[in-house]
Amino acid sequence: MEASMNKEVIKRRICTKLNHHFGVPPENATLEQFYRASVMIVQEMLIERRRKFVSAQREKEAKSVYYLCMEFLIGRSLRNNLFNLGILEPFEDAIKELNHSFSAIFDLEPDSGLGNGGLGRLAACFLDAAASLGYPVDGYSIRYEFGIFRQKIIDGWQTELPDLWLHGGEVWLTPRADEAVTVKFDGQVMENWGDEHHIEHINYKSVLAIPYDMMISGYDNTSVSLLRLWSATNLNFDIKLFNQGNYMDAVEQKAMAEVISNVLYPSDNHMEGKSLRLRQQYFLVSASIQDIIRKHLSYYETIDNLSDKVAIHINETHPALAIPELMRILLDEWNYGWEDAWTTVTKTFAYTNHTVMSEALEVWPEEIFKRILPRIYQLVQEINNRFCHKIYEMCNDSMRVSQMAIINCGQIHMANLCICACFSVNGVSKIHSNIIKTSLFRNFSELFPSKFINITNGFSNRRWLCQSNPNLCGYIAELIGPGFETNPKEMQSLLKYADNQDVLMKLAEIKKYNKLRLADYIKETNQIIVNPDSIFDVQIKRLHEYKRQLLNALHILLLYDKLKENPNMDFYPRTFIFGAKAAPGYHMAKQIIRLICSIANEINKDKSISDKLKVVFLEDYRVSLAELIIPAAEISEQISLAGTEASGTGNMKLMINGAITLGTMDGANVEISEAVGEDNILIFGLRTNEVEDLKKNGYYPSNYYNDPNISRLMERLKSGVDGVSFQDIANSLIGGQYGNSDPYMVLADFEAYRKIQEEAASRYRDKIRWNKMSLVNIAASGRFSADRAIEEYSDWIWKINKIKDVK
Ligand SMILES: *Cc1c(COP(=O)(O)O)cnc(C)c1O
Repeated sequence: MEASMNKEVIKRRICTKLNHHFGVPPENATLEQFYRASVMIVQEMLIERRRKFVSAQREKEAKSVYYLCMEFLIGRSLRNNLFNLGILEPFEDAIKELNHSFSAIFDLEPDSGLGNGGLGRLAACFLDAAASLGYPVDGYSIRYEFGIFRQKIIDGWQTELPDLWLHGGEVWLTPRADEAVTVKFDGQVMENWGDEHHIEHINYKSVLAIPYDMMISGYDNTSVSLLRLWSATNLNFDIKLFNQGNYMDAVEQKAMAEVISNVLYPSDNHMEGKSLRLRQQYFLVSASIQDIIRKHLSYYETIDNLSDKVAIHINETHPALAIPELMRILLDEWNYGWEDAWTTVTKTFAYTNHTVMSEALEVWPEEIFKRILPRIYQLVQEINNRFCHKIYEMCNDSMRVSQMAIINCGQIHMANLCICACFSVNGVSKIHSNIIKTSLFRNFSELFPSKFINITNGFSNRRWLCQSNPNLCGYIAELIGPGFETNPKEMQSLLKYADNQDVLMKLAEIKKYNKLRLADYIKETNQIIVNPDSIFDVQIKRLHEYKRQLLNALHILLLYDKLKENPNMDFYPRTFIFGAKAAPGYHMAKQIIRLICSIANEINKDKSISDKLKVVFLEDYRVSLAELIIPAAEISEQISLAGTEASGTGNMKLMINGAITLGTMDGANVEISEAVGEDNILIFGLRTNEVEDLKKNGYYPSNYYNDPNISRLMERLKSGVDGVSFQDIANSLIGGQYGNSDPYMVLADFEAYRKIQEEAASRYRDKIRWNKMSLVNIAASGRFSADRAIEEYSDWIWKINKIKDVK
């Protein structure tokens, strides 16, 4: 891409940076200084490209998208940017010639962990895809001082440490104090009915939002997306207080403001009803909407055309307050009438739903909401009144009105606000979008059917294949030529090699190399020697009961006990690998981690089992660790109870790296199954309708106690694993009162799971067949690219065009 950036030029630039900024020659520079110098060089290239991209966009008066999300799980940026800029190779060569290890430099970069899991990672992949396609899509989020906690396992128990990502991460952020805005909390609203209806917000506390910009380069083009992260402070006011001599008050106010952007809430798929969380949400949206309007006005001088030139995406309900915030600005600051303001709002916002689980659906108590956001509360009330009126007119059914109301029984329902105001509502896989339409939001989809669409999630094939598995990527390029990096559906043509033994052998060889690399890491971090010829069976994702790591763990325990009983039984060696963070307050999830660690301890120290079975829990699962594990995986465990996982993206990343999905008919597994055909996937367990029927007719987990495998497992949990009793886990499955036990039907699916695991082992024995399955998975993974998802968002929802001809 960048013709001028050859190895020699890069070497020269690195040396200049080292000299200018650190006053050292390369031979005396530390790795850290090399890292910082490299980032500076990348940043300079990005700034230049960004400037051109924006000016090309302005010249065309092209419509923009702003993607609002409380989480962006970026991971590391250096290698990604070098790759996308097309200078990874010359850069690596330059570093080598300066006698340093580029992988050591890459490893120095902390993950930017401003997200919990799938939701935040999706947002990060989307910015990458949008830039790579040349679409003008920018992200907004919060510059959390502390991202997702670092996980340390101590005696099997998860402990949380603060994530000090800014040391080493801040080099990617450019502060723009000149574009800071003020966000107002608390206080009262005065209504003034003079000549004009005038609203005044008094006694508020103001917080200053300072933007920090992170640039994300497109691949093989000159587009650059911007991720604007807001940091909270109160510099505004303390100057005045300082001058009045109120030193302590000034410092206190500053500290109170700064807590807002202090820490990411570490729960995934679970609503945290804390008032600080509500402040974070409003802080993000108020700052972002003000910024969007400022940018728009700087070019168009009117906001009448806002919805023609801007689409704002609300990713999950967390940024839903952007809706009343835009109303506030139009009504209170620009004197729009309600109807005109509402027309603009309803043509501007689109919403993606990411979960159907009740504990994740956001509702806020009216009281908290009213106290913290008095003006926004009034506007939500008015939106609700008008909406309720409208649905009553449509259906004449007051029961239905109360079900669809935004405010009901003292609570504000954020999803209802989103569906009411947004012109588009999408789910994230076919099955999930169906569940939304026919069950969770059925009332809405019956009255407003055209709002509801599906866009299946995607992932960046460039990060998750090209960068993290360069050997596989290189081999694919050898076989089918380049082009699949930007058009991953071309990988379909790998199918012509499905019966080519040489190709299949070569794929196995690459997998083996990646397994050895992971085995080294496991040895170093966990002091466990794993058998590189065993099946690497991987379950990596947030720890959540619905994801059923427990099902996997119980099955391992059963395998072990059977192997102990009968050491000569027919058994193909396995290495089970887990990675998962639990929300710090989620006790059962932490217990399940502890169970996995206890199982691992008992098995791994048992000499009689030796090479046959090992269990590894890798701590601090995060993007950079995923990049190491996924290329080495052979079985991809996607075993959530049908109807609970909205899509999953881990399943897609593992697929493109040749792992075989062993999973339920849930989320995107259903589409993976369609894509590869049932011979190339291992599907088991209850289907969504069967889950529904069981729930309707009464699910009695104790019925499964008749299964000898299950009864012995329950006894085993009570009597202890590696000396620790897990009575509480057993109780959660069979002990509780009717309707409370085993909410995710682990026992109902256990036998089916055990059988499909047996099937997996038997298929693995046939190496040719297994490698062929693997090839088919790689070949069929193209449809899950984030590029495809972003094309769909652009065409179906945002109605935006690519910015071409950027020089
Ligand atoms: C992809 C990814 C996830 C999402 O995994 P799922 O299996 O889809 O839940 C979570 N965390 C990290 C670090 C990821 O890279």
